[in-house]
Amino acid sequence: MRFERVAKRYAVGEQGPDAPAAVDELTLDVRAHEVLVLVGPSGCGKSTTLRMVNRLVEPTAGRVLLEGEDVSTVDPVELRRRIGYVIQNVGLFPHRTVAQNVATVPRLLAWDKARTRTRVNELLELVGLAPDRYAKRYPHELSGGERQRVGVARALATDPPVLLMDEPFGAVDPVGRRRLQDEFQRIQRELGTTVMLVTHDIDEAVRMADRVAVLSTGAHLEQLAPPLEIVAN
Ligand code: ADP
Ligand code: ADP
Repeated sequence: MRFERVAKRYAVGEQGPDAPAAVDELTLDVRAHEVLVLVGPSGCGKSTTLRMVNRLVEPTAGRVLLEGEDVSTVDPVELRRRIGYVIQNVGLFPHRTVAQNVATVPRLLAWDKARTRTRVNELLELVGLAPDRYAKRYPHELSGGERQRVGVARALATDPPVLLMDEPFGAVDPVGRRRLQDEFQRIQRELGTTVMLVTHDIDEAVRMADRVAVLSTGAHLEQLAPPLEIVAN
């Protein structure tokens, strides 16, 4: 995955096209199968950067390449299949069961029932939620950590090559978070998923990262060079 001189300026009220750039001149390579952790102060454009990969946000300049292909030319539904997305507090559908939540993208892609059911069960096993205990529960019947596991399972439904994670364990208590990090690391290694992970937790960055990219403070405002990249581990 590659960001080539990517910029995003949100149109903000009367400031219009002159609104400050949320991301500017970002050039960054994410290597296949690595966990790249994106850190930087609040408001520096980390979430915007992730969201330009799956086209929740369209860049105003530059391009994002996924397996060599400009994502702006890829159909959004196809992107849902190829890119998993996990956010803090997950955004599970409250009136749908765990299984139905995990089946969100398969439904969108009109998989048949048998295939979906098998996959849902596999995924729940993968994230440590026994299907017979959890499949029929509703999100409010789960702990915070369990909800995050459902979010990860849902994001992995189509075995996407790329996973975007925005503060994925931020809402989980420290002990639960540690366990989730370890389990997620095992899953990521097993599947070989390429991961871009945003976190404020420096301990999490060091534990999870193959590499850390620092989005520099206000780079976009001062038109500084592209973000510093440091190698961890
Ligand atoms: P981070 O994830 O590093 O905290 P964000 O990508 O969320 O940063 O935000 C970067 C900048 O873009 C911030 O100044 C934020 O206020 C602004 N921003 C983010 N989303 C929007 C939006 N939908 N409309 C206008 N401005 C936005
Ligand atoms: P809807 O009424 O929205 O179609 P379904 O009950 O058919 O919801 O569930 C959506 C998907 O979730 C189904 O395709 C099914 O494969 C999967 N699913 C539902 N319940 C279970 C379960 N108990 N175990 C495994 N998968 C399930």
